Amino acid sequence: EGTISFDNVHFAYDPERPILKGISFEVPAGKTVAIVGPSGAGKSTISRLLFRFYDIQSGSIRIDGKDIRDVTQESLRASIGMVPQDTVLFNDTILYNVRYGRMSATEEEVTRAAELAQIKDFILRLPDGFRTMVGERGLKLSGGEKQRVAIARTILKAPPILMLDEATSALDTQTEQEIQAALDLVSRDRTTLVIAHRLSTVIGADEIIVLKEGEIAERGRHADLLAAG
Ligand code: ADP
Ligand code: ADP
Repeated sequence: EGTISFDNVHFAYDPERPILKGISFEVPAGKTVAIVGPSGAGKSTISRLLFRFYDIQSGSIRIDGKDIRDVTQESLRASIGMVPQDTVLFNDTILYNVRYGRMSATEEEVTRAAELAQIKDFILRLPDGFRTMVGERGLKLSGGEKQRVAIARTILKAPPILMLDEATSALDTQTEQEIQAALDLVSRDRTTLVIAHRLSTVIGADEIIVLKEGEIAERGRHADLLAAG
């Protein structure tokens, strides 16, 4: 469950300036595909199209064979778990921010998700910018910590499809490794589309697609791409 297919997708925000010029690829159910390429290549556009934020001009985008034009945005949001680059947390404890992924989750499930994402140390704090009723200040979380909160939320939600936008800015090596380990756990056996900014972080992907100026310039496994130079 959860096969994504893009078939000859053409898209432009402005008709004068095509962004995607006939993109075709498939993410088979349970596999991981990474999209890499220079800034402005159209990577984030692909994730926006998957959520139907914009309509494509021609071609088709399907999930399990069903054209997403026939699927509501609400149901797309339910089946695709998004881990964005920069997660906005709302004014409640980190615990509640995680629980929001699935309100019906048991205490054990929430604790397990928090453990996997390694956020247990600060789970009872409020996010930065907020204060408790007794005036205690919220915790300033790093980009990596915020992303881990989003990962915990997604672990709890357990959607069939995972859409991941890797951080552009360099995280320190330890944070990057921690996030990578948590992501490996969430993405295992789940259809995963990763927008990657560095080839080095998607070594294990089943396919890497190199996007350049709205076209697929190269595709293959990590080792194939290195061999091709
Ligand atoms: P498979 O479907 O072959 O079991 P996985 O979904 O487990 O593959 O992911 C394979 C590899 O892809 C992971 O080990 C990891 O290196 C890479 N990967 C998965 N998700 C991400 C991600 N969010 N960011 C970077 N790399 C990822
Ligand atoms: P990437 O994620 O690879 O950096 P994007 O998909 O964000 O690239 O953007 C691809 C191109 O589309 C860029 O030239 C960008 O300026 C343009 N673009 C992105 N969003 C919009 C928008 N909402 N309206 C018009 N142009 C946009």
